[in-house]
Amino acid sequence: MSAADIGADDLRELYRELILDHAKSPRHFGKLGEATHSAEGVNPLCGDKLHMYLKVDGDRIEDAAFEGSGCAISVASASLLTEVVIGLDTENALEYFSALVARLTGRAESEAAPSPVELGKLRALEGVREFPSRVKCATLAWHALNSALHHEERATTE
Ligand code: ZN
Repeated sequence: MSAADIGADDLRELYRELILDHAKSPRHFGKLGEATHSAEGVNPLCGDKLHMYLKVDGDRIEDAAFEGSGCAISVASASLLTEVVIGLDTENALEYFSALVARLTGRAESEAAPSPVELGKLRALEGVREFPSRVKCATLAWHALNSALHHEERATTE
């Protein structure tokens, strides 16, 4: 089956399943003992609270993990984040952060420059664009990652 055979509805269903799967069985969940960077992310609007841990060696993110609690979207997003950023250079991880935030907040279209990164499975989070309050849930972990990489202790969506 080629990609062209997959309709928009099928794709939405696949994305929904991916989100549910990550929310139910978050990857890299727990504390990272050898973390070199960490930050807390808080979304008071929804009650999501998580802690992001990174192990950075030189410019490379060797490992990532998170713990905390929140709604399905915030947990799934954090889980997807850990899968995406492990093995990336910190600069590249921050490009994903910018690209995802731009994409979810609708700023991407207005920018002339194409997104520097292919969002890949992170596009599963695009469904939240229809629900502005959930955008904060979907980007929380990424704000925490951004804070951690900039040696800030806390990120809040408010
Ligand atoms: Zn939430």
